[in-house]
Parts: sequence; structure tokens; C-alpha cells
Amino acid sequence: MTYSISIELATEKKTKPDVSKISFGSSFTDHMFILDYDGDRGWHSPRIVPYQPITLDPAAKVFHYGQTIFEGLKAYRTEDGRLLLFRPDQNLKRLNRSNERMSIPDIDEELALEALKQLVLVDQDWVPSAEGTSLYIRPFVIATEPLLGVAPSQQYKFMIILSPVGSYYAEGIHPVRIHVESRYVRAVAGGVGEAKTAGNYAAGLKAQEKATEEGYSQVLWLDGVHRKYIEEVGSMNVFFKLGDKIVTPELNGSILAGITRASVIQMLESWGVEVVQRRISIEELFEAHDRGELIEAFGTGTAAVISPVGELNWQGRKIVIGGGQTGELSSRLYNELTGIQRGERPDPFGWVVELKGAEA
Ligand SMILES: *Cc1c(COP(=O)(O)O)cnc(C)c1O
Repeated sequence: MTYSISIELATEKKTKPDVSKISFGSSFTDHMFILDYDGDRGWHSPRIVPYQPITLDPAAKVFHYGQTIFEGLKAYRTEDGRLLLFRPDQNLKRLNRSNERMSIPDIDEELALEALKQLVLVDQDWVPSAEGTSLYIRPFVIATEPLLGVAPSQQYKFMIILSPVGSYYAEGIHPVRIHVESRYVRAVAGGVGEAKTAGNYAAGLKAQEKATEEGYSQVLWLDGVHRKYIEEVGSMNVFFKLGDKIVTPELNGSILAGITRASVIQMLESWGVEVVQRRISIEELFEAHDRGELIEAFGTGTAAVISPVGELNWQGRKIVIGGGQTGELSSRLYNELTGIQRGERPDPFGWVVELKGAEA
């Protein structure tokens, strides 16, 4: 099936920033994609237009009841000028899982993928090429119906915006210090923790703020019922090397099913490394550390890909993991995954999608 996406090109082009100098998500390209929904017509009018502000009624439901979801993925430029996406089909599947949870109508994943590809091609000169840089792609849906009644909106906008991003690690991959949060929780099973929806992030800001004040860069969330079992780190899933096994929290309904997480599990298993997905308590982790069995810890997510954890602080008890250095497995995973994403290494899993029509 082919979709006709109308394209209105910008008459003026913006000046491109130096991506090594700007903070994540602060600069946007010349165009954006919009798809509208209303109860009568369903999703309609797919279009690429110049990047611009949108006008919404102050009563639009998204402002009051948070009916909204988002995604995040990246386009990479290879050394020979090709453009690659990493597992975009997985992001669009998850987009619809989030939609389903938030009572937002399903979006045709093929149309969304086509829109995403065409938008990146229209703005292809924005995809940076330096090591570690990429074009961050942010698809999202907002409920736009101007009505204060609490019920699913009858109008939505699905939009895609693009932002050139610099290397996550200015000086190469390095371990982060993490605060284990015992007071606030992010989500509970049965809630919306497994959806990529705005409220989860607003709910996390307080703890993040507190952690930053104390000199920690991220929060490790514990489960909302017992404040005992490990969930995830900021917007990353988390892995631990305990002895010769890799353990990661199981998808229990309150954590986000990361695409990097799934890719890391598949990659480790292909290397013959055993990965166990199960409940793991913070107590168990600290005890393993005391026995010398906690070898490595790392977070996984699109933004940083692999983020080694060098220190954990849980209620004032501090442990240093792997001597505060990047572990062997973390660097191997980082090199292998980013190598595949940038087209520098073979792609045995078929994860990479090349954009046809890139001008080298
Ligand atoms: C997006 C996200 C992740 C990571 O997902 P990826 O698909 O690997 O980028 C993990 N946790 C949360 C809460 C997230 O929002």
C-alpha cells in the first residue's frame, strides 16, 4: 500500500547548530509531520509542513487529563553517507501499545513508518555525521478535543518532530552515580508505567531533582508496592552482572519494555551469555556486592544506548560497582550496538533499516 503524504516545503531554512555544543533536544529541523484524527473520519490528512507552533484550544484534553503518548528513536548517518534507522517497527508497535493503554485510537504502523522515513529524507541534511551524533526522532500523540468531560478525546494529532543530537558521552562512555529512591515511586503494575506517557515523567521529576541536588545523575526506581524490587533507572532499563549471569527485572507491567533492553538480551544470548529476567530486590543486589558477586551494572535506552553504573546510594549505603570503571560487558555491548546502528558492523539480527533516497 502506498500513502500519499502531502509535502509543503519551508521557504526559509534555519541555521544548523553545532551539535557538540547544544543540550539534548534543544534544536529542531525545518519540517514536521502531522496526522489528524476525528471521530467521524478517523486518522486523516497526513502531511509534512514547515516546523511551526501549533494552536490548541485551552480546553484541549491533553492539557487537563494528560491523554498523550510518545516515542523516541534515532536516525544515523554512516561514514559513506547512508541513512539508517534502528528497529523503527518496534517503536511503532510500542506506540500502539501505549495508545491502547491510554484509549487513543490505533495508528497504521505502515503509514507512520512511511511518514517517519519521508520526514527524515526531507530534512536529511540535518542528520549529523560525527561519531556519536544522530538525529533524534520524536513521534507523539496529543488529545486535542476541547472538552472538559473526562472521557477519551474524539480528536487527536499525531506528530513527528526531529532534533539533531550530539554525542551522549562527550568524553567517551563513562559510569554514572545513581540514587536509589525509597520515598517516591514512578509507577505501579496496573497503572501506566508500561506506556510511554507524559505522566510517568512528570511523576519522576521530584525524585530526579532531589538526586541532582545530592550529586547523583539518575534515579533508580523501586517497585511501588514494597519499595523493595528494582524497576528501572530514569528512562533506562537496568541490567546487573551477578557472578557469571546477567539479571534484569522482568516486564511486570510497571516498567517500560525498552527496545534497547530487548536488543541487549538478544545480543547477549547470541554470545552464549545467560540472561535471567526476574524480580530482584535492592537488598539482594547490595548483598551480592558485599560477597563480591556484583561485577557490573548498566542502563539501556535509546539516548545513551549503554550507560554503565559506577555507584549506587540506597538510604545512605553507598556501593561502588566495578571500581567505578566501565565494565567489560558494558563496553562490548556499547561498541557492538552502536557499531550496528551506525552501519560499521555486520547486522546479524536484521535490526537496521536503510532510508532509500539519501544523498551522500
Ligand atoms: C524510553 C524508555 C526506556 C528505554 O526504551 P528504549 O526503547 O530502549 O529507548 C526505558 N524506560 C523508560 C521509562 C522509558 O521511557
